Amino acid sequence: MPLYAFRCPEGTEFDRTYPMSEVPAAVDCPECGGAARRRMSAPRLSVAGSTAYRLMDATAATAHEPPVVTSLPGSGGGGGGGARITRNPLHQKLPRP
Ligand SMILES: [Zn+2]
Repeated sequence: MPLYAFRCPEGTEFDRTYPMSEVPAAVDCPECGGAARRRMSAPRLSVAGSTAYRLMDATAATAHEPPVVTSLPGSGGGGGGGARITRNPLHQKLPRP
């Protein structure tokens, strides 16, 4: 959720987090109890470069940039001597492990 900045008439500044649809124009000041109005500032939505941000980027990238694989998952992991690749189109019809 975005972080919004508030400032009361006596000058106390503080931040609060609200959903974008529910952010109030004024809240009670935590120190004097006065009506602190929301300051005009850019909402701090997220921190680019954070772990969550990189995970979202990586997840979105798999939709259009799937990683290149050279073997089936779980096959040839033991003492495999390389992937067995055949070019015969009839082999495509063989059952997969
Ligand atoms: Zn105050």
